[in-house]
Amino acid sequence: MLDTTPAHRWSWVEVDLSAIRRNVRRLMDITPNDTKFMAIVKADAYGHGGPVVARACGIAGADMFGVATLEEGIELRASGITAPILLLSEPPRTGIPAILENDLICAITTAEFALDLGEQAVNAGLTARYHLKIDTGMNRIGVNHLDVLEFLKLIDFHRGLERTGTFTHFATADTTPEDWDFALQLRRFKEAVTAMREADFDPGTVHAANSAAIIMHPEAHFDMVRGGIAMYGLHPSDSTRDLIRLEPAMSVRARATMVKEPSIGEGVSYGFTYRVPKSVQIATFPLGYADGMPRALSNDTQVLFDGRRCQQVGRICMDQFMIEVVSNPSALKPTHPITHGDVITVVGRDGDDEITLDDMAKRLGTINYELACRFGLRMDRIYTRSSAS
Ligand SMILES: *Cc1c(COP(=O)(O)O)cnc(C)c1O
Repeated sequence: MLDTTPAHRWSWVEVDLSAIRRNVRRLMDITPNDTKFMAIVKADAYGHGGPVVARACGIAGADMFGVATLEEGIELRASGITAPILLLSEPPRTGIPAILENDLICAITTAEFALDLGEQAVNAGLTARYHLKIDTGMNRIGVNHLDVLEFLKLIDFHRGLERTGTFTHFATADTTPEDWDFALQLRRFKEAVTAMREADFDPGTVHAANSAAIIMHPEAHFDMVRGGIAMYGLHPSDSTRDLIRLEPAMSVRARATMVKEPSIGEGVSYGFTYRVPKSVQIATFPLGYADGMPRALSNDTQVLFDGRRCQQVGRICMDQFMIEVVSNPSALKPTHPITHGDVITVVGRDGDDEITLDDMAKRLGTINYELACRFGLRMDRIYTRSSAS
């Protein structure tokens, strides 16, 4: 294992940029050659680090980037990204000057915002490019698929606005390829885009597919696809596992800051939810729930040390957690005691074994997306480059 310890804290996230590049290429390989690729790097690239990941995706061939917040778009521009950036929803109208200053393309869902954006663009001597967002069934944001023409009549006249794209987002792309709800949303989208063309409203670049639809629904690829979770090597659902090979890019590791051998019967961590049952070592790591380690997994998760699994014990604290190490010199493969400074793997591979965000998410009743975002919040990030595996 390479030495990637940050100077200030003995816990860190490793992000394998080569894995991200290979995942992007695998996704591009299953779309037609002339289909563009938008890399979704919202939420700091799902916890992997927005600007650095965006640059890696650009090298792999991404044409455009998608972000959720104005701040994320501004950060990408400040880092030197010059490719088009789509802000996936309207910010408050007070954000319009920043959209124009940073040359962001905004998703449009309300006429009031669109007209305000157009006005301010004209006043600044600019044209604001936008993508029309159509709601085809998710009922989150977007212009209802039946109201698209009426909506466009309200804003299309404005000389400060230029529509360069039209898109929707599926509520159920991650179920099965034969899903009826998916087919309905796709049909609504196609009908709305056709109606636009027939009424002479150029839709621009048409796009709909998230990772699940890229992998399972080629009929939804259109002019561009929007890759998210799969770029990071994580599957959007169990249904995609057999359809594409992905390499997880994120690993989480830590070094032991303290090792103790408490007497039998001693408690460990808040509330003494674990008591020392026999002769064991208790090792502490500087990584807690404020770093993304889910507190709900207290006493219910494992880490890898020395190529074997060790049980996490006692409550996971805000900034630290403990594990139990049982050394067994008579085992087939002799196991070593842990010492101060030894590295454990909280997420990722060590030897032949691997702890995945999927395993953790399943046990918690959530999804890998949420855990990746959370591990990205506070820990130092270290970027690595692996060769193809
Ligand atoms: C987050 C997001 C995506 C990417 O979704 P994944 O499931 O991560 O591929 C695509 N489009 C929109 C509008 C999104 O908000």
